[in-house]
Amino acid sequence: MRATMQNVPLTLTALLDGIDGTFGDSEVLTYAGANAVVQAATFSEIATRAAQLANGLAGFGIEAGDRVATFMWNNQRHLEAYLAVPCSGAILHTLNIRLTPEQLGHIASHAGDKIIIVDASLLDTLLPALPLMPELAALVIAGDPTDAQLAEVSRLVPNVIAYEQLVNSQPTTFAWPVLDEHSAAAMCYTSGTTGDPKGVVYSHRSVYLHALAVCTANVAGISSGDRVLPIVPMFHVNAWGVPYASLMAGAALVLPDRYLKPDTLVDMIITYGVTLSAGVPTVFNDMLQWLRRNPGHRIGSLRRVLCGGAAVPASLVAAYRDEFAVPLVQAWGMTETSPIVTIADVPADVTTTDQQRKLNSAGRFLFGAKGRIVDEAGTVLPRDGRSVGEVQVSGPWITGGYHGGVDAESFSIDPDGQPWLHTGDIGHISADGYLTLTDRAKDVIKSGGEWISSVHLETTLVGHPDVVEAAVVGVPDTRWDERPLALVTLRPGSAVRVEDLKAWLAERVQRWWLPERWAVVGAIARTGVGKYDKKLIRQRYQSGEIPVTLLPR
Ligand code: AMP
Repeated sequence: MRATMQNVPLTLTALLDGIDGTFGDSEVLTYAGANAVVQAATFSEIATRAAQLANGLAGFGIEAGDRVATFMWNNQRHLEAYLAVPCSGAILHTLNIRLTPEQLGHIASHAGDKIIIVDASLLDTLLPALPLMPELAALVIAGDPTDAQLAEVSRLVPNVIAYEQLVNSQPTTFAWPVLDEHSAAAMCYTSGTTGDPKGVVYSHRSVYLHALAVCTANVAGISSGDRVLPIVPMFHVNAWGVPYASLMAGAALVLPDRYLKPDTLVDMIITYGVTLSAGVPTVFNDMLQWLRRNPGHRIGSLRRVLCGGAAVPASLVAAYRDEFAVPLVQAWGMTETSPIVTIADVPADVTTTDQQRKLNSAGRFLFGAKGRIVDEAGTVLPRDGRSVGEVQVSGPWITGGYHGGVDAESFSIDPDGQPWLHTGDIGHISADGYLTLTDRAKDVIKSGGEWISSVHLETTLVGHPDVVEAAVVGVPDTRWDERPLALVTLRPGSAVRVEDLKAWLAERVQRWWLPERWAVVGAIARTGVGKYDKKLIRQRYQSGEIPVTLLPR
C-alpha cells in the first residue's frame, strides 16, 4: 500500500519558503570590529538579495549543476551565497581560505569551479592561486579591492565584477526551480593532511536532514529565540550546518567576519546576547585564557556551545562550567559526515562519575546515524568500552563516496545493503553507546605492539594548570618501534619543567604511556582548519628542528 502523503522534496528551497512565510523578520548581524556599526539585515532582505545574486550568476551563464565557489569569512554575503547558489540548482563550493595556492588550484580545478565569490579582504590570499585555475570564468569581489588588486585580478580572470554591482543591478525575484532532493547542493574538500584533498558532495536532502538534526534539542535545540554565533568557518563543512539550522529555526545569526580574536568574540557574545555558539577547542581555549586575563566579562548569555573538530579536553569543559556556567558540549564528525554524528549530551539522571565519563567522550550517535567499531580484519567489535578499532558510520548525511570516485576503499556496503564510511578514526563504544576516540588511524602510536592514545595524553596534559596546548605524536624508537613525543606550550611566566609534567602525568595515565621525549615550544603547528598538524610535527622532529629533552624511562 502506498502512503497518501504529499511528495514534497527535501530541498534547501524550503528555507526560502520558511523565510517568506514565517521568519522574514529574523536578523543577521555581521560584526565589523569593536565600536563599529554592524551590518544588519533581516532574513527577508537576505532572501531578496539571494534572488538578485542568483539572477546575477545566471547572467554569467551559471546553470543547474555548475559549481560556484566562495572564498569568504562568515558574513552576510556568504550567507546570501549559501541560499542563492544551491536554491538556483548550482553547487556551492566553499573554499578553505587557509589552504596553500597549490591546494586551492588543485581543488578548484578538480571541482570545476566556474566562478569564485571572494571577500576583498581575502584577495591577496587568493591571488597566487588564480593562475592555477585556468577554467575560472569570473571573480565576484565582495567589498572594496585596491586599484592594484583589481588590475592584477583582471589580468588573471576574464570577468571581474563587484558583488554589490552584480546584486543591485538585478531583479528582486528569481524563479527558484523545483529540485530533486538527491541533487548536489554543496561541496567541500577534506583538509588533505594525508595526500590530496578529497571532494565531498552534499545533497539537498542530506543538508536538510543534517540541519534538522542540529535543530533538535539533543544537539543544539535551536529556536527562533536564539542568537547564534558560528565561529566555525562557513568554509569548513558548512559551518557544521549551523547557518542552515538557524535559517530553518528563524534564529538570529551573529556572524564574526574576520574578527576571530578572543576579545572581539567576547564583545560579540556580550553585546548581542549570543545564546549558542560553535567552534573548535582551540578557539574556546584561547577565549578562556583571555577571559582569565581580563576578569569581569560575563558570557552567561551562552546557554550552549558546540565544541568539536578535535578532542575537547575535560579541563576545558570543566573550566567553562565552573568559571562561567557555560555548558561546552563535545561533538564529533568530519567533512565526510556533514559533519555532526555524535554529541556528548548527557541525560539528567546520571551519577557524577558517570556524567564525567559521558561528558568526556565524543558522545552518542544522533538519531539517524549509526556507528560501529571494526578491527583490521573487518570484524565488528563489541560495544564494551574496551574493544578498540576503526569507527565506521552510516546515515543519510554521511557520504557514500568521494567526488571523482577516488579512495573507494574508504567505503563498503554490507550484504543487506547498509553503506558504511570507514572514518580512519580509532576508538571504542561503550555498552551504553558513548563513542570515545583514541586517535586518527594515521596518528596512532604503536609502542611494543600496543596502542597509546595520543588524544588521551593531550587532553590530560592540558588539564595541568601551566599547560596551554599539548600535542603528542608517535616517533620511531629502536626498542619499542614507536614512542610518544609530547610538545607543549606553557602559560607565560611558567617555571614548570618537563620533569614536573611527566611526574604529573604519571599520576593519571599508565606508566608505559609516559613520554620520554618532551619539547616546550612557542607554538604548535596547525593545519588549515586549526588542528595539530601531526604530519608536519613528525617531519620537523625527523629533521631535528624540534628541541627535544630526553627523560629517563
Ligand atoms: P574535518 O574533516 O577537517 O572536519 O576533520 C575530521 C576529523 O577531526 C575527524 O575524523 C577526527 O579525527 C577529528 N575530530 C572531529 N571531532 C573530534 C572530536 N570531538 N574528538 C576527536 N577528534 C575529532
